[in-house]
Amino acid sequence: MKKNIQIAIDGPAGAGKSTIAKIVAETLGFTYIDTGAMYRAVTYKALKQNIHLDDETKLAEMLAVSTIDLKPSEKGQLVFLDGENVSAEIRSNEVTSSVSQVAAHARVRELLVAEQQKLAANGGVVMDGRDIATHVLKDAELKIFMSATVEERAKRRFIDNEKRGIKSSIETLKEEIALRDKMDSEREASPLIQAEDALFLDTTDLSIDEAAQAILKLAEEKMA
Ligand code: C5P
Repeated sequence: MKKNIQIAIDGPAGAGKSTIAKIVAETLGFTYIDTGAMYRAVTYKALKQNIHLDDETKLAEMLAVSTIDLKPSEKGQLVFLDGENVSAEIRSNEVTSSVSQVAAHARVRELLVAEQQKLAANGGVVMDGRDIATHVLKDAELKIFMSATVEERAKRRFIDNEKRGIKSSIETLKEEIALRDKMDSEREASPLIQAEDALFLDTTDLSIDEAAQAILKLAEEKMA
């Protein structure tokens, strides 16, 4: 019988994690969990409630009385915040440029990580984020660290934004991505870093399908 393993995929913004993780999960019949969407939902609510993004206590209090649900749908994963579908809102430029500030707070992370561990407890999951292999699912059977050049990642985000009807420029995206990489990698609480037992996958010159196939091959080996 095939094992219901945990697959952890980490990497910087725009490396292709979510697109590829979704394909891997669908092919294996696993649940896909986009942890970035959870940090985005918290940021969206904090901005709406005018909570200062440096105020860790207020953010943690707000989060303690919030519910964030991830639900699969034909259009991809939907994100519900306190019962409201905020899937589009959490991808706005305002949320994107603020989310790393919110994600830097240890107390915010503690609450979300506990939730993420519950969601993955039964295995059969593909979870993507920044600290999945190093903190959330330390015992995951398969750990991938995915990256690509900043230029390629900005180009991908540009195309992605166009599809979502969000206006952007490649130069601005490059700056935004580089800044987010820096904030995510240099923060004290669970910084973005490749786990010692993670495999590095450079997606710069890989198609989505090629990257997904590479991970699926590794997953099949672990599940056998
Ligand atoms: O993956 P995505 O780009 O949507 O993530 C948005 C932000 O959420 C990241 O830039 C990072 O600051 C934060 N994040 C995190 N830990 C995770 C997932 C996302 O800190 N596991």
